[in-house]
Amino acid sequence: MTTLELHGVHKSYGAVTALHGIHLSVARGSRTAIVGPSGSGKTSLLRIIAGFEAPDAGRVVLQGTVLADGPSIVPAHRRGIGYVPQDGALFPHLSVADNVGFGLDRHAPDRSQRIGELMDMVSLDRAMLQRRPHELSGGQQQRVALARALAQRPQLMLLDEPFSALDTGLRAATRKAVAQLLQAAGITTILVTHDQAEALSFADQVAVMRGGRLAQTGSPLEVYLRPNDPVTATFLGEAVVLPARLSQGWAECALGKLPTGDSTRSGDGLVLLRPEQLQVVPLSGVAAPAEGHPVCAGTVVEADFCGAVCELSVRLDEASGGALVHVHSAGLDAPSAGARVAVSARGSAHVFPAS
Ligand code: ADP
Ligand code: MG
Repeated sequence: MTTLELHGVHKSYGAVTALHGIHLSVARGSRTAIVGPSGSGKTSLLRIIAGFEAPDAGRVVLQGTVLADGPSIVPAHRRGIGYVPQDGALFPHLSVADNVGFGLDRHAPDRSQRIGELMDMVSLDRAMLQRRPHELSGGQQQRVALARALAQRPQLMLLDEPFSALDTGLRAATRKAVAQLLQAAGITTILVTHDQAEALSFADQVAVMRGGRLAQTGSPLEVYLRPNDPVTATFLGEAVVLPARLSQGWAECALGKLPTGDSTRSGDGLVLLRPEQLQVVPLSGVAAPAEGHPVCAGTVVEADFCGAVCELSVRLDEASGGALVHVHSAGLDAPSAGARVAVSARGSAHVFPAS
C-alpha cells in the first residue's frame, strides 16, 4: 500500500528550477533512498514533503490526505512527518534531554520516561541526558536529532544526508542501526544522500535524481544492474560501457560474446558490465581459454591497491577493440602495471534501452 505519492512536483527559486515535475510513490513501511549529486534537488524535494516549502505546482499526498496542491499546503507541524535536517540542527544551548523532548508537552507526567525510551531507541546512554550537543560525537548528535524526530511518532521519517558527517566505519554502523530501528518501529522512511553505496545498502527503493528530475526509480539491484542510461550507470558505481552488436539475446563486444537476457534487441547498442563481473589472469602461463568462455588480451595500465580490492585499468589489445576497462581484482595477488593479462567476463551484459 502506498503511503506517500508525489505527482508532478515542480519548484523554482527565481531563475533556478530545482525540481522539474517529480513523480514518486513510497510504499508504507518501506525505505526509499533519493540519491543524486550535490545540487540535484534532493533537499528541495525533502523540504516540500516535510512542508517547509510549497511546490509551485504538483501534489503531495500522504495516506490519501492532500498535503500540498501547488502553493496551497498543510503546515509542517500538522503533517505527522519527522525530519532530520542535513546538519542535525540541534539546539546548542539546550541539554540532550531538552533537545529530544523539544516537541513533547513540557508538563506531561510521562515526559522524562518518554525521553528515556527515545534515548534507548537510538541506543544512546541515558547518562548523556544532561550534556550539551557540543559534548557529543557527530554520530551521537545525529542520534539525538533522530530521537527528537521520533518523539513525534511520525508515520513518515525524512533523513537528509544524516550520516555524511560521520567517518566511514561509524557511518556504516549508524546507517544499519538507524535502518533497523525505523523498520522495527514500522516507520516509512525517505533517506536523501549523495553516496550511492549508502543508497543501495539502505533502501528497498532507490530514486536516482539528476538536474531536478528522477532519472530512474527501482530496487537497488535494478538501478545498479539495469540502469536506464550510462550516466546513471556511472553515477551508481564504476561501469564498463562498451559498444556491442546485439542479436537474439547475445551481445558481441570487446570482451567477447556475452548473454544479455534481452532477446528483443538487435543491431548496434551499448552494454554495461560492472568491474566485479570481470576477471583478469596473467597471460604468461595461461592455458588455452575454456571452450565458450570469452577471453581477450590486454595490458594493465594502472593498478590501484585499495586493500581488499585492487582496482585495475586494463587497455584491451587493438585486436580486441582497444577499449579501457576497469576490473576489481582481489588485492592479494593482483597484477601490476605493465602486466599482460587475459580479461574475461561472467554473468550477463545489460543492454541500455535505445535512447
Ligand atoms: P541537493 O540537496 O541535491 O544538493 P538542493 O535541493 O539543495 O540540492 O538545490 C537544488 C538547486 O536549487 C540548486 O541549484 C540550489 O542552488 C537551488 N536552491 C536550493 N534552495 C534554494 C533557495 N532557497 N534559494 C535559491 N536557490 C536554491
Ligand atoms: Mg542537500
